[in-house]
Amino acid sequence: MAFELPKLNYAFDALEPNIDAKTMEIHYGKHHNGYTNNLNNLISETENENKDIEQILKSLDLNNNGLRNNAGGYFNHNLFWEIMGPNCGGVPKSEISESINSNFGSFENFKNEFSKAAATRFGSGWAWLCSHENGQLEICSTANQDNPLMSNGCGGNPILCLDVWEHAYYLNYQNRRPDYINAFFNVINWDEVNKRFTEK
Ligand code: MN
Repeated sequence: MAFELPKLNYAFDALEPNIDAKTMEIHYGKHHNGYTNNLNNLISETENENKDIEQILKSLDLNNNGLRNNAGGYFNHNLFWEIMGPNCGGVPKSEISESINSNFGSFENFKNEFSKAAATRFGSGWAWLCSHENGQLEICSTANQDNPLMSNGCGGNPILCLDVWEHAYYLNYQNRRPDYINAFFNVINWDEVNKRFTEK
């Protein structure tokens, strides 16, 4: 059973001016599509063929660089597109809001800590917000296409992520990663983040 590139819930230009249409088109249509095709080729006729993506990530041998990069790339971008949207951003409401306040003191503190994790990830990688089974929230970052579900991850359930590879922002922001991180907060779909927070 092959993995499919998920449908985007919005148009390429829907996140403008925070994320430009050309970046969305290339990022989704070329990069994410590439990870998806590579993943399917790598698992074809192997023990991973009938696993879901989370099972593949959790049982992954980190020395298997091809599967590590492409299974990670597939999962990470799936989540990234889902937790963004037009007419979003702002300060979250509902359960996730209370948990952010109790874990980080305030939304502003959370924003600062998450932004720092994204800004200080050297080279390519991701920043994450993860929820643990005891309800605790944790910010972490991973290199390349690694993610928190892998054996080198924080062990939490990822509910929010930000891609800080240059392919995610360079057309519009060039070297100004902090501006891109700031703009990301205008497109976070907190309803989707809250859904993931309350589901598990
Ligand atoms: Mn990417």
